[in-house]
This record gives sequence, structure tokens and C-alpha cells, in this order.
Amino acid sequence: MDYLQILERIHKAILPYSKEGKQADYIPELANVNPDQFGMCIHTLSGETAAIESADTRFSIQSISKVFALAMCHSIKGDALWKRVGKEPSGTAFNSLVQLEMEKGLPRNPFINAGAIVMADILLSHLSNPEEDFLRFVRAVANNNTIEYNHSVALSERSTGYLNAAIANLLKYHGTIENDIEEVLHFYFLMCSIEMSCRELAVAFAAFANHNRPFDYAGITLTTSQVKRINAIMQTCGFYDEAGEFAYLVGLPGKSGVGGGIVAIYPLRYSVAVWSPRLNSKGNSVMGIKALELLTTETAESIF
Ligand code: GLN
Repeated sequence: MDYLQILERIHKAILPYSKEGKQADYIPELANVNPDQFGMCIHTLSGETAAIESADTRFSIQSISKVFALAMCHSIKGDALWKRVGKEPSGTAFNSLVQLEMEKGLPRNPFINAGAIVMADILLSHLSNPEEDFLRFVRAVANNNTIEYNHSVALSERSTGYLNAAIANLLKYHGTIENDIEEVLHFYFLMCSIEMSCRELAVAFAAFANHNRPFDYAGITLTTSQVKRINAIMQTCGFYDEAGEFAYLVGLPGKSGVGGGIVAIYPLRYSVAVWSPRLNSKGNSVMGIKALELLTTETAESIF
């Protein structure tokens, strides 16, 4: 399969959508990103890599970081993690409060904000240096020691993060988080602020695609079965209230972020990352979803 040619063809085909959607501006720093950018990189487990356009430009990975947080929490807590957070799709927006109130502070899954805030709390309780340890783990999975947090993005999100603060308060009220709310939110926003390129994300997610290989990065270990289960949660919960549509159009487990990035994996075959800042109303990249839909359609390579 000539992936480079396929990616180039896909890019041409989705150009008509390049002005559709709007970049996230509820995080002031993200409003400053040029929305007219696009990058894509596919990395096969047999060692081929194809990358096009701005595949080497770093962007704010935002909620894609929740997969890394889940890997760490699952490694640390094993199945006891599921006492703190559920694993059912929510069918609601990533930042919704409604379900959390009805379900008495137990987040539906680790990928909605409430679930990720609980994971931030777990990591704060269990790691000796949470900020360093999280970054060290992400760098190890991506095999790249230059990956960094963007502190201005994290601070910028804190300055307007009223909804996430409301979620954290509701969690604290129900006793679902142990640490100080300010500390938990600070760490949650910091994890979201990590910057990576499509190429770096594709390499990092090969660790999830290749569930037969031992998962062991910076002291974080997962069994084959635990990696497969993380992939299952990406499939059912990775796109919030658009998870069904993503499964229908693309047919791969994946995770999106409001920075406009999407990663997806075809277990035992490849990992792919795509980035374009303009988002649809569900907070997922318009061109990103289109590109992945075309990729799995053209190659007939999806899990279904
Ligand atoms: N930091 C963002 C938030 O909490 C992450 C959301 C996302 O990427 N979907 O709102």
C-alpha cells in the first residue's frame, strides 16, 4: 500500500471542507492558533511512516492526553480504577454536568472531562512528582524527550475554566476527588496543554496499536489485555456524543482533542494522527474526521 500517495489524495479530496467549523476559542490561547492548518501521519507496525503537510507542527493535544492519563491510572490502580470512574459511553458533551449530577459524582468514563479530572486526582495521590512523572511517561511512549507542557495554554485555560471548575466542585461535593480542587484542576489543565505533532502522536499510539508487545514505558506497565481494554474505551468513548458517528464513518478506536487533533489505531496494523484546528459542534476536527473516513474507506482497512 502506498500510504504517502493515499494521504496526498485524501488531502486534495478534503480541501473543500477547509473553511468548515471553528477552532476552540473558549481557551483564549487556542484562539490565537492559525485555523487553516492540516497535517497527517500514518505509522505502520511494520515500520513504514507516511506524513503530509504540517505533520511535524506541534499543537495542543488537549483531550488526547486523557489516553495517556488512563494508561497511567490503569497501570497504577488495575481494576480498582473502575470504582472511581465508569467505562460506558456518555452520549453527552465532553464538559457536560447533567449526567454527573444525576449519577452522584461518578463520571461515566475516563474521557469526558469529569472522568479525566478524577484521573488527575488519582495521579496526584499516587505519584511522587505528578508533573514530571506524567511528562516522563508521555516522552517515553513517544520516544521523544523534547515533548513539553505549554504553561501559557494551561494558565489560559485556568483563567476561563469555569465549567471544569464546576465539574471539579461537584466531584468534590460527592467525595469522588481526594485532593484540593485547585491542585487537581491545575494538573488536569497541564496534562491537556502538552504539545505534540501528528508524527509524534502516531509513534506514541503505536504502543496502543501493538497490544501484543509488552507495554512498559518509564515504569508504567500494562498487560496485553489492559491495552486492548484501553482501545475498547477509545472506541466507545473517544468522541463523546459523536462516538457512534465516528465508529460509523471511520471504524477505528481513537481519541480527539479540542486542539483539533485526532489519533486512531488499527490494532496490530497502524496508528494514524491527523490535525486541523477547525472543529464541528461536538468539538472534533472537521477535516480530521473527513480524512480518517477517507483513509479507512480507500484502504478498506478498518476494524469492521
Ligand atoms: N482542556 C479541554 C477542556 O477541559 C479539553 C477538552 C477536549 O479536548 N475535548 O475543556
